[in-house]
Amino acid sequence: MPQLLDGLNPEQLAAVTLPHQSALILAGAGSGKTRVLTTRIAWLLQTAQTSPLGILAVTFTNKAAKEMQTRLGAMLPINTRGMWIGTFHGLANRLLRTHHHEAGLPQVFQILDSADQLSAIKRLLKSMNVDTDKFEPKKVQNFINNNKDAGLRAQHVESYDPYMRRLVEFYAAYDEQCNREGVVDFAELLLRSEELLARSDAIRRHYQQRFRYILVDEFQDTNRLQYRWLKHFAGMDSALMAVGDDDQSIYAFRGAHTGNMNEFQRDYAHDNIIKLEQNYRSHGNILDAANALISKNPTRLGKNLWTSADAGEPIRVYLAYNDQEEARFIAEEAQALHREGIALNDIAVLYRSNAQSRVLEHALFSAGVPYKVYGGLRFFERQEVKHALAYLRLLAFPDDDGAFTRVVNFPTRGIGARTLEQLIDAAQQSSSSLWKTAYAKYADAPAGKGLAGFVHLIRAMQEATLGVTLPEAIEHILQASGLMAHYVAEKDGQDRVDNLNELINAATVFINDADAIANAEDNGGLMASFLAHAALEAGTHQAGEGHDALQLMTVHAAKGLEFHAVFLTGLEEGLFPSEQSMSERDGLEEERRLMYVAITRARRRLYISHAQSRMLHGQTRYGIASRFLDEIPVELLKPINKGYAPAVEQYATPAPRTAKQHSSSPWRMGMNVRHAKFGVGVVINVEGQGTDTRVQINFGGAHGVKWLSLEYAKLEAA
Ligand code: ATP
Ligand code: MG
Repeated sequence: MPQLLDGLNPEQLAAVTLPHQSALILAGAGSGKTRVLTTRIAWLLQTAQTSPLGILAVTFTNKAAKEMQTRLGAMLPINTRGMWIGTFHGLANRLLRTHHHEAGLPQVFQILDSADQLSAIKRLLKSMNVDTDKFEPKKVQNFINNNKDAGLRAQHVESYDPYMRRLVEFYAAYDEQCNREGVVDFAELLLRSEELLARSDAIRRHYQQRFRYILVDEFQDTNRLQYRWLKHFAGMDSALMAVGDDDQSIYAFRGAHTGNMNEFQRDYAHDNIIKLEQNYRSHGNILDAANALISKNPTRLGKNLWTSADAGEPIRVYLAYNDQEEARFIAEEAQALHREGIALNDIAVLYRSNAQSRVLEHALFSAGVPYKVYGGLRFFERQEVKHALAYLRLLAFPDDDGAFTRVVNFPTRGIGARTLEQLIDAAQQSSSSLWKTAYAKYADAPAGKGLAGFVHLIRAMQEATLGVTLPEAIEHILQASGLMAHYVAEKDGQDRVDNLNELINAATVFINDADAIANAEDNGGLMASFLAHAALEAGTHQAGEGHDALQLMTVHAAKGLEFHAVFLTGLEEGLFPSEQSMSERDGLEEERRLMYVAITRARRRLYISHAQSRMLHGQTRYGIASRFLDEIPVELLKPINKGYAPAVEQYATPAPRTAKQHSSSPWRMGMNVRHAKFGVGVVINVEGQGTDTRVQINFGGAHGVKWLSLEYAKLEAA
């Protein structure tokens, strides 16, 4: 018996060594689904049932794909390079690069991330003279992406009214614009490659014959288009294995379709369903909390998870005065864990909303705790990095209008909105790109200022970067463009300067990566390849790469991962569950699944924190504890600050107070007031004015002392 199979339980063993058949693995968090998938690939290779080329494996994140490759490399003496293991988007990109001609794309097409896409849409709407109050660019973007995710081109979308007809028009015009510019957005990667597979028998047959084994992780979160895409690869002789957990379906808002699980059963698995019920990840208390929580969801396929591990530690609950204090607590506690010998890599800080990360980052930075942010405003999405990349893009693809508009006047070189509008008009009239239009006009003019200066600058950069290495080219661009000087001069610009320097490091790491070099040829050169990498793998070369660093990410991004200790933050009504979810059909159920995902990331220790007040999107919100906290049996929880039922003194000092009271405020210290939820309390502090007024009230008993905003809290005199 090969060593690979040691330690698997009977159900896992059955799944790993399944004969050449299709099957659905349906199992809860931490039951070894991903491990089964990886081990099966290793087993298939080790027993020579197929070659590395015969396998197509789809994972949910780049991180997961990398991990799978690393694990395979460790299990077997094979070269995992060139294997088709990746995300839907990554693999679709690969397919389109290989068959760009058949897909109707230039050899060096480049990828628009979501922010690029939005600015492309804004540009389009502007050129069509659209009233953006009526048609918000963001809504247009969602409309386009939702349809692409559903596999629908503009001409396939049914419109019921004039408003919708306009949206469809924008969709069609947007696609035209992208084709003209040779750019591809994320949804397009999939749709375009799906169409290619549907259209071309030869290509489809080639891959169908090649992939004898197709394996998909996190199947519950695939959308209709992804499933259709996958089905094209399945030939007569392909065995498909999908693994999933309906309780962890958290992407309905992006069109994930749990119905795919039923369809998969019908299309491929038939009665071949394997359930795994033993959880190997978490200690008993953590698992009990997760089970109790998810049992509140009415519509589930229903699975039981058990563990042979002991109960372990209770779940620690921390009530913070405000978000900053929550962040400071986490920074200190993470340091304490680190001192006990836990690697920072093995500790995660999870949040519901990306906006929460800034305060956390600040506290960690101040405390000197190395950290790494996954997802959200990732390294490659930061303003300064995008500016730098835009210069790079313009050198590599001068017809990229998005890149052109981003940097033509950044740093400012006195090019006015009017000049740009004229340029855009002229470009439109001659159906040409902005660069070509500007170039035709100014190439022979004296360098000077304004547009002429810009044209000369880009030309000079093109010449200067010819034949130098990628990191050298970037360094040159940062200096010559004035970007570096701009941020150096900016107050608080140090982070941005660091990020720009980090971009040079990222390029250095990139060109030392043999894989990248190998792929560069297909991708139309190293520069194009680096840009594709930047768009696809945002975040992986952030400061701290390869070093031990605390892991910060949204709950969504944490799916499939596990950590020794997890800090789950912001457990407040309106944040987690989110405000929006409360008014959506099935919204709360989806939030609860998200909470289930969050809890089940922890192996040994779980912290749950919430704050009495929090700055979000420029506003202070006063939160009450999330209902999800109430859904965890109280005996599993351990409050770790007195603040859980806070004493007055504890909260009397931390934040600066302006005790001055506005004369219009009807609330005075010592007054008795009544609150709908907390009952009667006494006002112990008042601060702010008008709608910003907030009052501190001691409700005694279980509710203790709270800050409430008068704008939201309905208070009456009692
Ligand atoms: P999720 O639903 O969160 O994606 P999963 O079902 O994919 O979880 P894995 O990540 O594969 O679960 O496994 C969870 C943990 O349990 C991993 O650390 C894995 O190595 C371990 N594990 C899985 N099966 C076994 C086993 N038979 N013996 C020991 N450890 C195991
Ligand atoms: Mg998994």
